[in-house]
Amino acid sequence: MSAPEYDAIATDEDLLAWSREYCRQVRRERGVDVRFDLVDWEISTRAKRRAAAVKRPRLPDATVGTPYDWDHVSGSDGRPLPCTVSLTRAAFEAFDRSEWAATLRHELIHVEQYQHAGTTGHGPAFRERAADLDTDVHCPAFADPKYVLTCGDCDGLVARRYRDCKLVREREQYRSDCCGAALVLARGPD
Ligand SMILES: [Zn+2]
Ligand SMILES: [Zn+2]
Repeated sequence: MSAPEYDAIATDEDLLAWSREYCRQVRRERGVDVRFDLVDWEISTRAKRRAAAVKRPRLPDATVGTPYDWDHVSGSDGRPLPCTVSLTRAAFEAFDRSEWAATLRHELIHVEQYQHAGTTGHGPAFRERAADLDTDVHCPAFADPKYVLTCGDCDGLVARRYRDCKLVREREQYRSDCCGAALVLARGPD
């Protein structure tokens, strides 16, 4: 399946396709040592704070930085056991493109560490890799936007804002791009 443009992402399948394609690109361009044939992907609609996570088996005697002896894991055929990158739909909705891309790079580091060492964590090795890949050390979290503005005609989303701003305060002076209609504050502080 070919990935849609970022701005055209609508369904969960679109989001998965775009995110996988982006991760492949990061691997190519930045030399991330990850086997995608051993990675599953899923969309989480339940996560409340975590933007994404890597679900993986807990393995005995695994240490970040030490190559894991996959040969001794039954059923592995000497390869890393599969892990799952779980992407939170609401985080994608709350983030802009650069935040979402940084989230994916963060998770890629977890996958790289896990496939190499059998485990992963936010220690010094992660910090170094996060600097290489220009992402955050902390697992990205998200919050629901405080303000949501919609189009008064078609109810389409116009903007999300995390704090009060001119667009929110002076919304009577703006019109929606889609219909040229007044903006409605669909969500605000109560
Ligand atoms: Zn993390
Ligand atoms: Zn409209």
